[in-house]
Amino acid sequence: MLWNVLFVLLVSIVVLILFSPVFKSTWPFSTLYRRVFQPFVSDDQKYRWKFHLVPLFYTSIYLYLVYTYHAKVEPLIKNDLFLLERILIGPIIILPPVALGILAMVTKAEDSNVHRPGSTEKYPYDYLIYYPDVQCSTCRITKPARSRHCSICNRCILVADHHCIWVNNCIGKGNYIQFYLFLISNIVSMSYAFLRLCSISLKSSTALPRAVLTLSILCGCFTIICAIFTYLQLAIVREGMTTNEQDKWYTIQEYMREGKLVRSLNDDPQSWFLKLTEKGDAAEPLQDQQGTFYSTNAYDHKRYILMHYITIKDASEITNVYDKGTFLANFTDLIQ
Ligand SMILES: [Zn+2]
Ligand SMILES: [Zn+2]
Repeated sequence: MLWNVLFVLLVSIVVLILFSPVFKSTWPFSTLYRRVFQPFVSDDQKYRWKFHLVPLFYTSIYLYLVYTYHAKVEPLIKNDLFLLERILIGPIIILPPVALGILAMVTKAEDSNVHRPGSTEKYPYDYLIYYPDVQCSTCRITKPARSRHCSICNRCILVADHHCIWVNNCIGKGNYIQFYLFLISNIVSMSYAFLRLCSISLKSSTALPRAVLTLSILCGCFTIICAIFTYLQLAIVREGMTTNEQDKWYTIQEYMREGKLVRSLNDDPQSWFLKLTEKGDAAEPLQDQQGTFYSTNAYDHKRYILMHYITIKDASEITNVYDKGTFLANFTDLIQ
C-alpha cells in the first residue's frame, strides 16, 4: 500500500515537472519550471547523470519485452515454435540488440586528441562548410574537416554524426559500424518477433491471449520507429553527409535560395562567398555594398571584393567533396 502511494506520488511529481514548460506562468508549474526543469535541462555538468536516463529507459523497455515473452507468451506458443527457434531464440533474437547496444555505448568515436594515425588529415577542407585554421574554442586545437565539438562528451569528434541519446555516445569515426549494427539488430529481432507472433496468432483457432497481443503491438511499434530512424540515417549516408553536415547544407541552400551564395571564378581554393543582397538585412548589420562579399566561414569576418563570380541558383551547382558517388562507397568510407 505504502509503495503504491509513493509510486503514484513520484509519477505525479515527474508529470508536473515535464509539463512545467507548458504552464510556466501558473503555480506550482512556475516554481517547478524555475527550480527544477530549467536548471536540469541547461546544466550539463551538474546533472551529467541525466544523459543515462534515455539508455536506462531503452533498457527497461527491452527487459520488459524479454520478461513478457519468457513469463507470459512463451508458455502459450511453445508448441507452435520450430525446434531451431526454441534453441536459437536467446542467442540469435534476444541477445544481439543488448550486446551491440553495450558495444555502441562503450566504443568511443575518435577525437582530435585520441585517434589513429592519419585520421585528422583524411578529409580535405572543402572551403564551403569546413575551413582550415578554425580553432575549437573549448579544445583549443584546430578543427579537422568533418569534425564537430560535442558539449556532452566535451571532445572534438572526427567525422561527427550526432550525439546519440539512446546509447549516450557520440557517433563518429570509429563507431559507425557498432551504431548501425545496433540499429539493424533491433529491427531484425523486433520484426522477427512481430511477424512470428502474428503468424502464430493467425493460425490459432482460439482467441488471442492478451499477453501475445501486447507483445506483438510493442514489437511492431518498435520495428517501425527503428526502421524509420535507420532509413533516415542511411539516406544521409547516401548523400555523402553526416547528420551534422546535413544541418550545415540546409543553411547553405537557404543562402542559395536567397540569392546570396556565389562562387568565385578566381583560381583560389576559397571559392564560396556570401553576397549581401538586401540593405538592412536583419541577419547582417553591415551595409550592403556592390561587389562586397563575406566568406561562408562563420569565423572569418573579413570583407572580400570579387571581380569574377557566378551566383549559385541550383543545388546541383554545389559540389559536396565528401560524396563518393554511391551509397555503398559512402558507407564504406564512414566505417573504415
Ligand atoms: Zn572541441
Ligand atoms: Zn557526444
